[in-house]
Amino acid sequence: MADGVMDVTEHFGSSVFNDAVMRERLPKNVYKTLRKTIDEGEELDPTIADVVAAAMKDWAIEKGATHYCHWFQPMTGSTAEKHDSFISPTQDGRVIMEFSGKELIKGEPDASSFPSGGLRATFEARGYTAWDCTSPVFVKNDGANMTLFIPCAFCSYTDHALDKKTPLLRSMEALSKQAVRVLRALGNTTSKRVTATLGSEQEYFLIDRQFADERMDLICSGRTLFGAPSPKGQELEDQYFGSLHDRIGSFMNELNTELWALGISAKTQHNEVAPAQYEIAPIFATVNVATDWNQLTMETLRDVAGRHGFMCLLHEKPFAGVNGSGKHNNWSMGTNDGINLLDPGATPHDNLVFLTFLCAIVRAVDTYAPMLRASVASASNDHRLGANEAPPAIISVFLGEQLNEIFEQLATGKAKGGKGAGCIKLGVNSLPVLPKDNTDRNRTSPFAFTGNRFEFRMVGSSMSPSGANFVLNTIVAECLSQIADELEKSKSVNATCQDILSKIAKDHKRVVFNGNNYSAEWEKEAKKRGLPNLKTTPEAYAMILSKENYAVMEKHGVLTKEELTARTETLYEQYCLALNIEAKTMLYMAKRQILPACIEYSARLADAAKSVGTAGKTQKELLKTVCKLIDTASAGVVALEKARIAADGIDHADKKADAFLKKVIPVMNKLRESVDALEEIVDASIWPLPTYAEMLLMR
Ligand code: ADP
Ligand code: MG
Repeated sequence: MADGVMDVTEHFGSSVFNDAVMRERLPKNVYKTLRKTIDEGEELDPTIADVVAAAMKDWAIEKGATHYCHWFQPMTGSTAEKHDSFISPTQDGRVIMEFSGKELIKGEPDASSFPSGGLRATFEARGYTAWDCTSPVFVKNDGANMTLFIPCAFCSYTDHALDKKTPLLRSMEALSKQAVRVLRALGNTTSKRVTATLGSEQEYFLIDRQFADERMDLICSGRTLFGAPSPKGQELEDQYFGSLHDRIGSFMNELNTELWALGISAKTQHNEVAPAQYEIAPIFATVNVATDWNQLTMETLRDVAGRHGFMCLLHEKPFAGVNGSGKHNNWSMGTNDGINLLDPGATPHDNLVFLTFLCAIVRAVDTYAPMLRASVASASNDHRLGANEAPPAIISVFLGEQLNEIFEQLATGKAKGGKGAGCIKLGVNSLPVLPKDNTDRNRTSPFAFTGNRFEFRMVGSSMSPSGANFVLNTIVAECLSQIADELEKSKSVNATCQDILSKIAKDHKRVVFNGNNYSAEWEKEAKKRGLPNLKTTPEAYAMILSKENYAVMEKHGVLTKEELTARTETLYEQYCLALNIEAKTMLYMAKRQILPACIEYSARLADAAKSVGTAGKTQKELLKTVCKLIDTASAGVVALEKARIAADGIDHADKKADAFLKKVIPVMNKLRESVDALEEIVDASIWPLPTYAEMLLMR
C-alpha cells in the first residue's frame, strides 16, 4: 500500500471491542458465555463480568483510554455520557487502573436533570444505566481525551424506562417472540430468533462555519428563522448526485475514516437535492445497533464538520424554500439463520411466509397509523410532514404494481395469476408466484416496499430512530401475534393462512396507495377512505394516549401505561421548549440585530432624501417603504413577545403545545414576513446576517 494510504480492512472496527477482539482476549469459556448472551439475549452471568471488564480495560488502555463511560440515550433525543477514570488509589499514594464487572454492567449517574415526564421525582432522582451487551463497547476520543464507551439502557430504580433505548430493546424481544410463533406455525422448525433490521439514510446540510457563527438562529435552533430566498435555489436540479466539491470530499473522507474505526459500515454518500445538502447511509444492522450507529453518526457529522470549517445542520428544515432533510428508515426482519422475512423468496412456501409477514405489516400500519405518525412528530419535523413537503402526514403503504395486484386478488379471494407468472396452490386457493425482483419505486410514499424491506420515510433527520422503530416493532408484533393465535389453533394451516391474508387484504386495502402522495387528489381520496391526516405535532400527540395504544404497548411488555403517559408528557414538553427557544431567538435577532440595522438604513435614506431635496423621488419612496416595514416588524416583535409569554405560562402540556401551535407560530411567521421583505431592500453592507445565497451557495 502506498505511503499514507489507509488500509480500510485493517482500519475498520479498530476502535471496537468486537467479536474478533473478544475471541482473542477472553478465555474460551467466558467468550462462549458472552457470545450466548449476545446472540440469544440472555442475562449476563455476573461471574464472568469481571473477566470481561478486565479484558476491556486492558484493551482500552492500550488504545490510549484513561476513562470509561456509560453511554445512554435519554428522552432528549441526544446521547448522554459521564466519564470516570480507571484510577484506583493504593496504600502507597500511587494508583492502579481498575475496572470491575459491576462497573461494566451497571452505572448510577446522578441523572435528576433528564426529562422523565414525572416518572421520577427529584427527591428519588436515582436512575441506573445497564450495559446493552448486544451493542459492542468502543473507544472514542474527544480531542486528546480517550474514553471507553459502554452502550447502555437507562431506567429508574422502579424499573421504568427513562430513555429511548429500553423500549426499543423490549420491542425487539416482542417482535422476535411473535415472529417465531408465526414461523413455527408455518412449519419453520429451525429459526430461533427474529431481529428487526435497520439501515438509516441520514440527510444533512453543511454550511460554512463563518456564516453559521453569525446566525443566532442556526446556533440556538438549528434552522434559519429569517431569510429571504436565494436567487438560485434547487430549480436547476444540478446538486442531486452532482460531483463532490473538494472541501466536501475531504470532509466525507474524514467522516468515513472516523465511522469505520467505530465499526459503522458507512457505505453510500452523495449530494442531495437542495444546495449544500448531502446524505450518508450505512449498511443495515440490527435495529438497536443501527440506532446507536445513527446517534454516533450524527455526533461525528457535527464534530468533523467543525474541523473542516463547516457547521453541520441536522434540522429537518434549516432553510425555507428548498428541500428539508429526512432519515429514511429502511426496516426489515431477519432470522438468526439468515432469512430476510421481507424477501419474497424462491419457493411457493417462502412466498406464503413472505406474504404473511407483509400482510401483518399492512394491518399494523393501518390499525396503528396515528401512533406511528406520532412517533415521528416533532416541532422540527412539522416543517416536512403536512407542510407540502415530502412525505405527507397521511400514512399509506406503497406495495408496487405486481405486489399490489396480488394484494387485490387476496382481497377479492380470486387469484388470477400475477403478471406473466404461474400459480401456486395454497389450500383451496392459489397464489401467483411472486417476482423476486420487485424494484419499482415510488419516491412519494411515506411507507414504501422496496423489494426486500420497507422504507419509512417520515422519520426526521435530527431524531433518534428509536421512537419510530419501537412503535413499528410493537405494532407488527401485535399483528403477528393475532395471526399466530389463529394458525396455532388451525388443523389446516395453509387454508387458514390464506383466509387470514384475504381478510387482512379486505380490511386494510384502504391504507395501500401506489399513486402520487404529494397530490391534492390524494389528500381528498385519503379523507374519503377515512385515513387520518394529522398535520401537526400536537394533533399527532393527542392520539397517543388511547385505549388501543396502551393495550398494545402493555401486552407486549414495551411500555406500561404509566411509562407511555410520562413519555408523551415529555414529548409535549420538548415540542414547547423547541418553539419557545425559536420564539426567543427570533426576538433576540429582531430586536438587537435586524431592527437596529434597518433603523440605521432608514436614517441614511432620510439623510439622502434631505440632501437631494425635491429631486430625490426614489430616496423618499424607499424611505417610506422601509419605515412602513420597520413599523410592521416592530409590531410583530411586540405581538410575538406577548404570545410567547402567554403560551409559556400555560400549565398543561397539551394546552401549552396547542397555544404554541396556534398562537405563537402564526405570529412568528408574520414577523418573518416583514423581516424578509426588509432583507430584500436594505443595503447589503448594513444587513447584519449572512444571506441564504451566501450560506447555500458559497463554499
Ligand atoms: P436508496 O436511496 O435507493 O433507498 P440507499 O442505498 O441509500 O438506497 O439505502 C438503502 C438502505 O437500506 C441501506 O442502509 C441498506 O443497507 C438498507 N437495507 C438493505 N436491506 C435491508 C434490510 N433487509 N433491512 C434493513 N435495511 C436494509
Ligand atoms: Mg432511500
